[in-house]
Amino acid sequence: MIYADNAATTKMSREAVAAMLPYFEEYYGNPSSLYAFGQKAKEDLEDARKRIASCLGADPREILFTSGGSEADNQAIMSAAHSGAAKGKKHIISTAMEHHAVLHTLDKLKKQGFEVTLLDVHENGIVTAEEVRNAIREDTCLVTVMYANNEIGTIQPVGEIGAVCRERGVLFHTDAVQAAGHLPIDVKAQNIDMLSLSAHKFHGPKGIGVLYARRGVLLETLISGGAQERGKRAGTENLAAVMGMAKALEIACSNMERNAERMTAMRDRLIEGLDRIPYGELNGDRVHRLPGNVNFCFEGIEGESLLLLLDDKGICASSGSACTSGSLDPSHVLLAIGRPHEVAHGSLRLSIGEDVTEEEIDYMIAAVTDVVTYLRNMSPFWRDLVNGKRRHVFSE
Ligand SMILES: *Cc1c(COP(=O)(O)O)cnc(C)c1O
Repeated sequence: MIYADNAATTKMSREAVAAMLPYFEEYYGNPSSLYAFGQKAKEDLEDARKRIASCLGADPREILFTSGGSEADNQAIMSAAHSGAAKGKKHIISTAMEHHAVLHTLDKLKKQGFEVTLLDVHENGIVTAEEVRNAIREDTCLVTVMYANNEIGTIQPVGEIGAVCRERGVLFHTDAVQAAGHLPIDVKAQNIDMLSLSAHKFHGPKGIGVLYARRGVLLETLISGGAQERGKRAGTENLAAVMGMAKALEIACSNMERNAERMTAMRDRLIEGLDRIPYGELNGDRVHRLPGNVNFCFEGIEGESLLLLLDDKGICASSGSACTSGSLDPSHVLLAIGRPHEVAHGSLRLSIGEDVTEEEIDYMIAAVTDVVTYLRNMSPFWRDLVNGKRRHVFSE
């Protein structure tokens, strides 16, 4: 089997699993307990916080553990919005291609009377800092722009956006779930006020993530109860998962350059191979994209059928994001970069892992080429294109 859906989730590394195990049976104390056994748990939790902070260029006090990327996004956006509203600022800037954890939170805020500007992401799937600058108003309380897109892999100029926001005194949040462990993060240098990450996207466990919030940024609690996480997130800490996350992030960050170089070469080999399929096109910028992301649209194809046939050939791939598959709506990201509906339905995302081989890349190229040809030969829609009854969107 070739697992090419690393944007959906990743396999845990042996080291991350090993880092967790002692906390299930040996050091299972509650970090809030006063006896030494509980204090050992507390010390290890704080040590993990320190190690994670240092991977991000943050202070340990700025690291809040959450249940994952979605919760971190929700808390960051809700906090900034409500503290903005207290000062009469109810305008938020974001993009049309954010993860649903961001977009649905913004929808909620719209119902509470906030105004949301979604910036155009253009055909290449990238917003510019200049566009952010032009959208900022007197009443803007938050800019939230993702670091890297989960579907098409495009990388946003977060450092430049951060500089603009800092200059204008507007809070800047970035959903860095796809970036963490894969792209350099330095919250101070990049002027990031809040950042979300999730361990299961970099070979850590599911159900654990981080909200980085710069000192001085007011946070509101989504989960009320005990005083854990400086009173900002109640609930007994998921210590084992935190330990696994810290280990996975350290490994990812220390191997980042080497992994990126190797994966970029593999990615480009895959893109080159799929580019040879007629009437298909790469989605998103060719250069400013995650080292592991390949995303194509093919004319005359149903994404779902493509996935099922690739599954038969032992390839785990995705069409759009894991969250929208299962629904018949085309991906909002592909629509945001201007793909027409009929083409957006025929999308394929292959997100490769660090250990992918050249043989696997070549096998994927051959398999996708075969399956696209097979499906087109059966498709009445494709016949219309061939007969000239319908017009092609892409060139050959
Ligand atoms: C996966 C993902 C999330 C959600 O993270 P969870 O930990 O699964 O809640 C949010 N944003 C992006 C960009 C993602 O890829």
